[in-house]
Amino acid sequence: MIEWSDEQQMVRAAVRDFIEKEVVPHHRELEHGDLPPYDILRKLFSTFGMDAMARDRFERQLARDRAAGASPGEQVDEPLERAPRDPAEAANATAFQMIPIIELCRWSPGMVTAMGVSMGLTSAAILSKGTVAQKERWALPLLTMEKIGAWAITEPGSGSDAFGSMRSTARRDGDEYLLNGSKTFITNGPYADTIVFICKLDEGHPPAERKIVSFVLDSGMPGLEQSKPLKKMGMHSSPTGELFLTDVRVGRDRLIGETESPEGEGRSAAKATFLQERSGVAAMALGIIWVS
Ligand SMILES: Cc1cc2nc3c(=O)[nH]c(=O)nc-3n(C[C@H](O)[C@H](O)[C@H](O)COP(=O)(O)OP(=O)(O)OC[C@H]3O[C@@H](n4cnc5c(N)ncnc54)[C@H](O)[C@@H]3O)c2cc1C
Repeated sequence: MIEWSDEQQMVRAAVRDFIEKEVVPHHRELEHGDLPPYDILRKLFSTFGMDAMARDRFERQLARDRAAGASPGEQVDEPLERAPRDPAEAANATAFQMIPIIELCRWSPGMVTAMGVSMGLTSAAILSKGTVAQKERWALPLLTMEKIGAWAITEPGSGSDAFGSMRSTARRDGDEYLLNGSKTFITNGPYADTIVFICKLDEGHPPAERKIVSFVLDSGMPGLEQSKPLKKMGMHSSPTGELFLTDVRVGRDRLIGETESPEGEGRSAAKATFLQERSGVAAMALGIIWVS
């Protein structure tokens, strides 16, 4: 049985107090889809200094990349999580990540989904395989919640069999690419500022043999349409929507890693992004079953 330390209990009490004041009074609007969760999440971040801590961690990581001689356009693979070496320190760091998740989930699990997909899944996709320039341009504003992110792999005809049935394509056009396709069930899709779009490189091969490539898109790009939130059975505090792409023109600077990685690498990069999400989902379950 794991016991929270005194310090962890103090943090938990402060987070709980924030939620009583900022989430509980808006619970109805959040859970009926009338109030997007982002302003409250941003307030949570600034109140507890989570934005400043994320910025510090990011700057340290970038300093390591630069010290290793990486230039702005160079791809730098990063492990998705850099756990501290000391087990007690690692446990403490994990506890401080998990406490806000558990506490929010006592009231509004959708808020954690919206936050996790933005600052976790979407930023991790860019941080793990992006160039230094891409990390600075897109990952940092996601980590601080200044911008909202979406990570789009699922399509109307491809869910569990995400790669096998994927129809979205990237086609080379000179030095650029044209992106086409549609995505569904995309968390934060209606409001995302930054979207990681996963598709197949159409070089004339049969679909099963095509490379998987990922691009970073900005809301408002010509040819990109973001739907209104879908009406779901629950979790309305996590807005879910569709994306439609018609000849969205992008340069190589938006291709994650700025390189068409060898066959198989794009698939494993997308799968690795899920790993981080899974540990967060366990903490969500703890909150939902109401730990006290
Ligand atoms: C609230 C919500 C948020 C989401 N957010 C995102 C997001 O941010 N980004 C994103 O890309 N996607 C997102 N998704 C999509 C999610 O990843 C898919 O729903 C999931 O991959 C399952 O796909 P599907 O719904 O098409 O179900 P299906 O693939 O049709 O599966 C339906 C059922 O059939 C079973 N099944 C499927 N194939 C087989 C098989 N070969 N053999 C036996 N059983 C099988 C499955 O286990 C499941 O029980 C979200 C979904 C929801 C509901």
